[in-house]
Amino acid sequence: MSHAEQKHWELETDVIVIGCGFAGATAAITASDAGAEVLMLEKAPKEHRGGNSRVSANLVFWPTDVERAKVYFTGLAGTYMDNIPADMLQTWAEGMHENRAWLEGLGMDPVEFPLCEFPEIDGSDCVRVLMHGKGDYGQERLWKLIAGKLDARPVDIRYETPAKRLVRENGSIVGVIAETEGREIAIRARRAVVLTCGGFEANPEMVRTYLDGLPEIYPDGSPYNTGDGVRMGIEVGADLWHMNNVSGPILSFKAPEIEVAHWINLPHCNSYMFVGADATRFTREGEPCSVGDRHGKVLRNGVWVQQPIPAPVHMIFDETMRAFGPVGSAHADWDVSHGNRYDWSKDNLREVEKGWIVKADTLDDLAAKIGLPVAKLKESVARFNMFANAGRDADWDRPADRMAPIETAPFYAMKLTPAFVNTQGGPRRDKEARVISTEGAPIPRLYSAGELGSIYSYLYQGGGNIGECFAFGRIAGRNAAAEAPMN
Ligand SMILES: Cc1cc2nc3c(=O)[nH]c(=O)nc-3n(C[C@H](O)[C@H](O)[C@H](O)COP(=O)(O)OP(=O)(O)OC[C@H]3O[C@@H](n4cnc5c(N)ncnc54)[C@H](O)[C@@H]3O)c2cc1C
Repeated sequence: MSHAEQKHWELETDVIVIGCGFAGATAAITASDAGAEVLMLEKAPKEHRGGNSRVSANLVFWPTDVERAKVYFTGLAGTYMDNIPADMLQTWAEGMHENRAWLEGLGMDPVEFPLCEFPEIDGSDCVRVLMHGKGDYGQERLWKLIAGKLDARPVDIRYETPAKRLVRENGSIVGVIAETEGREIAIRARRAVVLTCGGFEANPEMVRTYLDGLPEIYPDGSPYNTGDGVRMGIEVGADLWHMNNVSGPILSFKAPEIEVAHWINLPHCNSYMFVGADATRFTREGEPCSVGDRHGKVLRNGVWVQQPIPAPVHMIFDETMRAFGPVGSAHADWDVSHGNRYDWSKDNLREVEKGWIVKADTLDDLAAKIGLPVAKLKESVARFNMFANAGRDADWDRPADRMAPIETAPFYAMKLTPAFVNTQGGPRRDKEARVISTEGAPIPRLYSAGELGSIYSYLYQGGGNIGECFAFGRIAGRNAAAEAPMN
């Protein structure tokens, strides 16, 4: 930050909100309703606004009771609870509980969706997950409602205008340097700046730096979420938290020609298994494939851990499974949401032809084609078939009715890659949604909300991120608007 940047403010407002997802929209609505002039910066063009929020399942975790929510949140955080202060826990629980009334006030028609991901954790009786109106989950219904409320406010939204740097003067954040049409502009914030620009899923370098065991992973959501808020926070001395926690990984398929990963489909035909780089099984197949299934965490030796991904991972299956139904889906949320739908063939033959699925007459040939040790792959298939025939998976406890021998030639292999719905880390915030410095003090006039610096540190309950966006978005917007204006 240079003095030149500070002296040539091209725009001025009370509150700058950076990023137009649920967190940013909530902060902007709240600040605007509190009487502040609000300018929102959004990196994406208008038709791609909404980040992960728009393409998400649009489900909101609503705890029925504040005290039970505190117990459940504490159970979800486990050992990581020691860096979440008691006042933050209280605010988190209260804010999530208050969401329902706030959303109903905006016109939400709350319909309950059955999704309690950790029923065995104390406090789980408080879990309710809401969607807006009847129908399938997702479908952008809640996003459209909230975006409509944002558009109804006098908020100046600048699209294709990414924030690049925060401007700091005498310790306080006083503005933002953004980029528009290839040049930088300085925008002054008389009251405060709110960071709501999402996670770092689409920044492979940050992913490799902060996340263990996931050297290659693809986002299910917004390609615009490249960790800019993490970088901007670091530049002004923010402390970071929860950087190693993600919602995922979920084993998916990534076609070379398509930017995003597709979820896989495991039809109720069961002659398939997953193997890792050494051609052995590493999991109870099926468990890491769905976000509704503990969001990528699996139980190992009595402890929930992130699903290990011994890449390259292959799904091995036989002709019976090939003919049974599609093993891939059109469900790549970001793409589908923006009109690009890949229709997977019902018999998987188009994908075999494309080379996405490798075919061979024998297991020997299949192993050779995909570069796995032949003897080991045959041994793994033989072992799997023995378990399938015996009706008991002695290695991974896959349910007997979900196993069938892989025995009908030809044989197939599809390479799987992990994907994830979001990262949770970013600048640490406190119960007032203030960004906290490495020295432990709030950075004056800097707030944050949402997935950037999320409170989720370990286990994750579906609907929790969007709930947090609303809860802390309101706090950030209210407090930013209440800052005394600088001269
Ligand atoms: C497929 C999928 C399903 C999910 N389902 C659910 C669910 O049902 N319930 C739930 O609670 N959570 C769900 N999640 C997670 C949840 O959607 C996100 O954590 C949450 O929506 C994040 O909201 P946000 O406002 O913090 O960020 P986002 O909604 O991602 O918005 C961030 C915005 O910031 C913009 N931006 C980035 N960098 C800059 C910059 N430098 N300057 C300006 N703008 C910038 C981005 O373009 C984006 O528009 C899901 C996620 C995915 C991908």
